[in-house]
Amino acid sequence: MNEHLNPERDNISPAEYDIEKVLRPQAFEDFTGQQKILTNLKVFVQAARQRGEALDHVLLHGPPGLGKTTLSHIIANEMGTGIKITSGPVLDKPGDLAGLLTNLEAGDILFIDEIHRLSPLVEEYLYSAMEDFKIDIMLESGPNARSVQLSLNPFTLIGATTRSGLLTAPLRARFGINARLEYYDAKLLTTIVLRSSSILKTPIEETGAFEIARRSRGTPRIANALLRRTRDFAQIKGNGTVDRDIAQYALNALNVDEHGLDEMDNKILLTIIEKFKGGPVGLKTIATAVGEDEGTIEEVYEPFLIQEGFLMRTSRGREATEHAYRHLGLTKLGGQNS
Ligand code: ADP
Repeated sequence: MNEHLNPERDNISPAEYDIEKVLRPQAFEDFTGQQKILTNLKVFVQAARQRGEALDHVLLHGPPGLGKTTLSHIIANEMGTGIKITSGPVLDKPGDLAGLLTNLEAGDILFIDEIHRLSPLVEEYLYSAMEDFKIDIMLESGPNARSVQLSLNPFTLIGATTRSGLLTAPLRARFGINARLEYYDAKLLTTIVLRSSSILKTPIEETGAFEIARRSRGTPRIANALLRRTRDFAQIKGNGTVDRDIAQYALNALNVDEHGLDEMDNKILLTIIEKFKGGPVGLKTIATAVGEDEGTIEEVYEPFLIQEGFLMRTSRGREATEHAYRHLGLTKLGGQNS
């Protein structure tokens, strides 16, 4: 995937990560979009604060770059509590989790990114922590080994996942608050781009912000990344201001097409059409044909292609839509491409 368009955090350099932190909204007021989720969260946060209790456990799901980590920080700020950050693959064994849990203060938030990647052993260990704020730990080893129960301070677990379908039912059931983040429309992303450019002190015209917004795959992380690259083009090839012309110039130079689709998006569509007669074709077959990981296609590329009407998911596999044929300049004839 074009590096500017890949919203997965693994692909972010330390410098970019620092800028992300600068651009990250800190309070509910600064957070644009996801209105329904925000309205509910404000109520839950206010109610928990009034009762002097920890907020219920929260599960945030949705494609990468839509604001799950940001929202978790905001919840901690609004609750006035601390936050500890970890991720599913990092928690190797129950002991790793025990260390984190016993260090939480009352009301603190434990954020576990990629929670679907917890090992079954660690996941099971989490159950009693979430439910009763209790864990068993082993003291000593060998013949003297014994297990004792420890009480934890009440805390809030916020789990983030791009693949909620992979979560086990018992884990899912332990979250009182469950929210699915949606892609942002161009208008919301324009607001986000304008806000980011003001933080970065980059002169920008609204038409320039809109051009970036509508080609950002509905994703704030991509919009911010494209803004930073466009700012470079404005500085070197333009007059320093991000207007529509320089935004179009920059986005074309970055291989971002009119719909914000990148090379891999287009490759997926073209493969389905040319190699598999438009589908239906299974995900695994597509992944092998385009040389991309199956999970990445499912959690990063496919949701956006489906939402934008380029792809359909049917019981028999994935199918390219008329819209995809038109986009690639092809015609669909009786179920076959010309
Ligand atoms: P996720 O955890 O879902 O992968 P992040 O919370 O890390 O996504 O968001 C990626 C970047 O996008 C953040 O640095 C933040 O600046 C920006 N961002 C995300 N959502 C919003 C939003 N609603 N308003 C403004 N900026 C946002």
